[in-house]
Amino acid sequence: MNKFNPGATAGRLAGRVWLVGAGPGDPELITLKAVRVLGLADVILLDDLANSALLTHAGPRARVIRVGKRGGCRSTPQAFITRLMVREASRGRQVVRLKGGDPSVFGRAAEEIDACRRAGIACEIVPGITSASAAAAALGTPLTDRDHARGVAFVTGHAKPGGPDPDWAALAASGLTLVVYMGLSRAQLIADALLAAGRPPGLPVAIVERASLPGERVIPTTLAGLADTLVSQAVLSPAVLVVGEALDVALAAVAEPLQRVGIA
Ligand code: SAH
Repeated sequence: MNKFNPGATAGRLAGRVWLVGAGPGDPELITLKAVRVLGLADVILLDDLANSALLTHAGPRARVIRVGKRGGCRSTPQAFITRLMVREASRGRQVVRLKGGDPSVFGRAAEEIDACRRAGIACEIVPGITSASAAAAALGTPLTDRDHARGVAFVTGHAKPGGPDPDWAALAASGLTLVVYMGLSRAQLIADALLAAGRPPGLPVAIVERASLPGERVIPTTLAGLADTLVSQAVLSPAVLVVGEALDVALAAVAEPLQRVGIA
């Protein structure tokens, strides 16, 4: 039996689910594998952070269903998306769930994988470039640095309702560069928690809005100035907050940005 295709009958693919990373926005930042999988899809469930320009890779028979789920906006409930995905795959269809960034980073993949497992449907993750990597590119800096940050933590600013917040004190003590996803609405709380845990008010923070997309902005600030900067610069989602000493060099250079090559 083919591991990617259990239950296939002669000449016909069994239905299955692909959780595909669309990358951070720039339609060139997608993998060749994702492009191939889009080409064989019968159904594409399109996340609203996935660039719809990527649909040019879809085959002619693909049915596209938009299932945006942005926090706070009109959204398709996760349970509905999961049911739809399983139903279509059970009918023998190739279902592609196209998600922004990497499906394994704050992508609600656990529920979807679990539903496939319970329904006996083959499911595979096709990794993508996560927004933290696109933010590093926008900043022209690595997220890790031998002198300042031995590692990086991806954290959510927006815990599951009723769920525990990230342990900000432990993160503050870790010396890791922090990349905070979904952190805009709770930025004040996050900055306060890091300050209370002993991080200096002048610790560099970069707000990276629309990383890799037209209108991308890199806004330098500090832990103490974060909340005010978000308001004064009218920062909008999607954006990540990058926090840590590893940014010192990058932010000093914002006044004199790295000349990016750009491939026409
Ligand atoms: N799976 C995605 C993250 C989904 S959570 C990934 O790997 O990137 C949604 C959050 O991702 C947004 O609230 C924002 O914090 C971040 N995000 C997504 N696209 C972004 C972009 N182009 N620029 C900056 N942040 C982005």
